[in-house]
Amino acid sequence: IVRLEDVHLSFGQTQVLKGIDLTINKGDAVSIIGPSGSGKSTILRCINALVTAQSGRITVAGIRVDQLARESERIALRKRVGIVFQQYNLFPHLTVLDNIVIAPVRILGVARAEAEKTARELLDRVRLADKANAYPGQLSGGQQQRVAIARALAMKPELVLFDEVTSALDPETVGEVLWVIRDLIREGMTSILVTHEMRFAEEISDKVVFTENGRIVGQGSPQQIFHDSDNPRIRQFVGGLS
Ligand code: ATP
Ligand code: MG
Repeated sequence: IVRLEDVHLSFGQTQVLKGIDLTINKGDAVSIIGPSGSGKSTILRCINALVTAQSGRITVAGIRVDQLARESERIALRKRVGIVFQQYNLFPHLTVLDNIVIAPVRILGVARAEAEKTARELLDRVRLADKANAYPGQLSGGQQQRVAIARALAMKPELVLFDEVTSALDPETVGEVLWVIRDLIREGMTSILVTHEMRFAEEISDKVVFTENGRIVGQGSPQQIFHDSDNPRIRQFVGGLS
């Protein structure tokens, strides 16, 4: 469902991606790990066309992302790919329910009643059924992040990207967000996670990708990356686990 072939990307003089090759199959959960500044977020942003690569081929759900010619194609891509960031970016003046309903109604043209029904099902799934009428400011960080996940799912994406979604949370609320993601992955949602939660990545991933300095320097099963790698840099990075 996702294929990156020899993707190069620079910001000004800085080469950020130096030839990324990555294939992700439908139903897979793939974790991207690696040091700060190694290009993890940029890979996600390429997949969702938030940034444009200088060269290489990027195919996502049948769409050639490197050749998006029209705004309509960009919108088609965004409908298929959900993204959840470290900062939840909820609309503070809208209730939880309205935060989830707004994009399906405005972008997909779903009827309001139908969108609300779906939103309530999603809130149930992220265990926030009782918060539909609350405002984001009344919720904890973990609760807000679960609303952000429900909002992404409301678009019925084929693929969800998670960029360090627990990094800004209090330690005691990290678990509730990881539970929700784990459930989603078990249900078969194709997912790409940039994460520092090594144990979680080990547990839920079909494939783990290690990036360093704009390159993928290792990829394989959790066992291969976390326990059996003979790359000293990877061994050092995941050191606490092996
Ligand atoms: P972190 O773990 O800190 O989130 P990362 O692996 O996600 O790091 P990226 O955010 O992909 O790293 O950034 C890779 C490099 O690209 C960094 O050196 C960063 O400074 C640079 N970079 C990212 N976005 C921009 C931008 N919009 N303009 C210029 N440089 C950028
Ligand atoms: Mg990042």
